[in-house]
Amino acid sequence: MTENQKPVLRFAPSPTGMLHIGGARTALFNWLYARHTGGKFLLRIEDTDRERSTPEAVGAILNGMTWLGLNWDGETVYQFARAGRHRAVAEQLLSEGKAYRCYATAPELEEMRAALRAAGKPIRYDGRWRDRDPREALPGAPFVVRLRARQTGETVVRDAVQGDVRFANEQLDDMVLLRSDGNPTYMLAVVVDDYDMGVTHIIRGDDHLNNAARQLQIIQALNWPEPVYAHLPLIHGPDGAKLSKRHGALAVEAYRDMGYLPETMRNYLLRLGWSHGNDEIIPTAQAVEWFNLESIGKSPARLDFKKLDNLNAHYIRAMDDAALADEIAALIGRETPPRALSDKAHARLIAAMPSLKERAKTLVELAGSAEFLYTDGPRALDDAAQKVLNDEARRLNGRFLAATAELAWQAAALEEAARSLADANGLKLGQIAQPLRAALTGRTTSPPIFAMLEVLGRDESRLRIKVHSA
Ligand code: GLU
Repeated sequence: MTENQKPVLRFAPSPTGMLHIGGARTALFNWLYARHTGGKFLLRIEDTDRERSTPEAVGAILNGMTWLGLNWDGETVYQFARAGRHRAVAEQLLSEGKAYRCYATAPELEEMRAALRAAGKPIRYDGRWRDRDPREALPGAPFVVRLRARQTGETVVRDAVQGDVRFANEQLDDMVLLRSDGNPTYMLAVVVDDYDMGVTHIIRGDDHLNNAARQLQIIQALNWPEPVYAHLPLIHGPDGAKLSKRHGALAVEAYRDMGYLPETMRNYLLRLGWSHGNDEIIPTAQAVEWFNLESIGKSPARLDFKKLDNLNAHYIRAMDDAALADEIAALIGRETPPRALSDKAHARLIAAMPSLKERAKTLVELAGSAEFLYTDGPRALDDAAQKVLNDEARRLNGRFLAATAELAWQAAALEEAARSLADANGLKLGQIAQPLRAALTGRTTSPPIFAMLEVLGRDESRLRIKVHSA
């Protein structure tokens, strides 16, 4: 890379399933580094494995990236569509003598492997066609193309996270570049695509570290520039064990459905493996400013759902009231059957939001605590509300209705009326307010109740109280 060349990064998922939490973190780190440096962030769908790649998975990845706000530059590249170009590069290596045709048959290779196994040796291709004349093969016999890899010395992955990682070349056999059906292997495709896309930095999971050595061998054979590598330690579950289905909620979509904000996820994923002192709350704009490769941690990060909740509560509180009302609209719009927010309900939500958002850890919780504002009619009571609404409480509700029949329906006046009622009965204000709250919301916690009476309006409020009064 020359000095004034901007970095080019990419996220290169295989569309064989959902966008999972590890992939999302990889995407985020690449995105952040590109945005930090003013470089480019590209997206390549590695759909060479035709059996396991599905259009649904491609859709899930694109949606997940979009939801996370990880916008990419330029068109999405699809790897399979570039197979012709990959083949051409293999041909070039063949013509330069840097690759060769291997005519070994499947049974023959199986025999070779069995012999190696029996001798307790590592299973590697033994180079049997490396120096053989292809004319020795039967005419028209199928062949694969293999890289004529260096057999001595070492291949060094200079990794920004792991340091120099050395691989003895004698441990790496002559890898297949083209299969016998003429299709390129994954190893070749990645190298060619990265080169053609001008990729300068590769940030990915350290399960690809061994691949890096192999990919470097191809890169060196082609005399192409070596990218900067940064291999991220894996993510572990809260119990410290390697992440697996057992830990649940691995797909990014699941986090959306549980009510986490994209901003929360970006902050959370960033902290899974990157740090800036003891800072936990790092909004995206700040992350873009600070992100670097040096501060990527060397040991596995651990999922911590409590931290995730705390971050989400923070970003919910910080979020604009109208935007939160929109989030609730989107959430209930995804229900089956979908529900929609009326304009009236939308306005009520915005009015109540400053108080509602103080308590919510997720959008799902927020939507639940706000439901009394966007669905009309008498409330079903939860257990606690049921307990509050005993005979005495229902009588107090009835008296409140009588006392406020002619009143302007506005918080201060309603509170004043409740206070007088309390005084007249030798009660505390809360003893009037709590039955009202139970009737109005079906619950025993809510935003300040007199403000909520005003937000709901006279008719709707009186209807709900009447049902629970005597
Ligand atoms: N397609 C690979 C994967 O999904 C990533 C390849 C790469 O980043 O080089 O694991």
